[in-house]
Amino acid sequence: MPETKLHGYVDPSLSELPVSTIMELNRHAAIDLAKRTIPGGLIVLLALLISAHYSPIQHDYPLLTYGLYLAMVLVFLMRLYNVYVLLKKDMPITPWRRQTFIIFFFSSTIWGVYVAISLYLYETLFTNMVLLMFTVGIAAGALTSLFIWKRLTQLYLCMIFIPIIISTFMHWNLATVSILFGLISYMLFLMVQTNRANTEYWRSLCTTKIVQAQADELEKAIKLAETANNAKTEFLSSMSHELRTPLNAILGFTQLLKSDPQSPPNEQQKESLNHILTASNHLLTLVNQVLDLSKIESGHLDLHLRSTQIGDVVNDCLLLVQSLADKQHIRFVIAEVPAVEVHTDPIRLKQILINLLSNGIKYNREGGSLLMEFEQKEHVLRILIIDTGEGIAEKYHSSLFTNFSRLGQQNSRTEGSGVGLVITKRIIEEMGGKIGFESKVNIGSTFWFELPLSKTTS
Ligand code: ADP
Repeated sequence: MPETKLHGYVDPSLSELPVSTIMELNRHAAIDLAKRTIPGGLIVLLALLISAHYSPIQHDYPLLTYGLYLAMVLVFLMRLYNVYVLLKKDMPITPWRRQTFIIFFFSSTIWGVYVAISLYLYETLFTNMVLLMFTVGIAAGALTSLFIWKRLTQLYLCMIFIPIIISTFMHWNLATVSILFGLISYMLFLMVQTNRANTEYWRSLCTTKIVQAQADELEKAIKLAETANNAKTEFLSSMSHELRTPLNAILGFTQLLKSDPQSPPNEQQKESLNHILTASNHLLTLVNQVLDLSKIESGHLDLHLRSTQIGDVVNDCLLLVQSLADKQHIRFVIAEVPAVEVHTDPIRLKQILINLLSNGIKYNREGGSLLMEFEQKEHVLRILIIDTGEGIAEKYHSSLFTNFSRLGQQNSRTEGSGVGLVITKRIIEEMGGKIGFESKVNIGSTFWFELPLSKTTS
């Protein structure tokens, strides 16, 4: 039968622990308990020897006293043997527990009977008061060392106290009544404390093990995910390289066919060639983006940061997206570009601006506007790109900068791959800047990003 208890302790969280862990905990607790029983056994033996030596019992009933000595020495030797078989002989836990239970039954009964006889014979003699003090100490000691196993502690306390309680009952007078009352309340108090200590000990151990198991699982999952991610990045990177060569060939030969003076294509052929060019260009953009993404993810994005005049880069980008804007009749409204220098990689800055500007055009409405504004702050320059398009619904805001998310545009006629913004964000952050946006459905979106100003400017 699988182990479902921890030395008698049952907890709902146990079902989360594998049987091997429960067995390991049980053995660990058994060893802990076994080690603690040696000093306790020695103290009980010494307490018996000392107290009986100074008590009239040794003189009045020598046979009984020596019998008790012998029994206690035997029990102590059995305790030693019990520890030995667990630590050195790796005795299985179940028979070991049975053996321990019997040893502790005898150990506590001998002490309880001895004190009960002394109290019965000599009532409130001074030596009996000392005996009671010893009993209180032995019971408290038992609690602190045996609490790991609740039933064992309960047995120990009962077998010590019950004979004493019976004996005090048999001599019913004012002095014994107060002793009786004290003993019963002390026994109950120890039982409650045992319960509490036992629950706290096992609960904290179970929680620690569960947290440990979860942390191990998590670590394994992270390692697995990292390996898978690295494999994916490597695959994307090599695939993109492989795809670029044939794609460039398709683009080159299509251009040649289109402008071949010897056999110029007719109108229908021209249209087909234009389709090939558009599709190939789109595919090339996608391949380049995927390559960028894999470079970023593998930490191989090379940046050449330097002081850059922002005005020149902005003008270049506006020229590049002009034809796209013309197709949709989008009007540019560009604020005065501040004559400042930013600390950036100009080629990557161009890539960022083209992505944001072309998004502002692609997702704009026919005949809309695209505004560009600049805010110079203490150490950064903020660039805002504001469109008058359809905006982004609130439910998509949290996934805007996520790989391959097109936020409901996947079925639209607007071309895209859903990676441009992810790349843009990562590049901006690599350059020490940040990006953000605000968007309202049917009113438009504002994308902004900040870059650090060059030391000379700020
Ligand atoms: P792509 O444009 O290639 O799909 P992006 O990463 O640039 O990829 O953009 C991701 C998605 O975010 C787009 O598919 C679109 O749904 C949304 N989006 C980006 N910019 C805007 C914008 N200015 N207005 C509305 N939606 C936008």
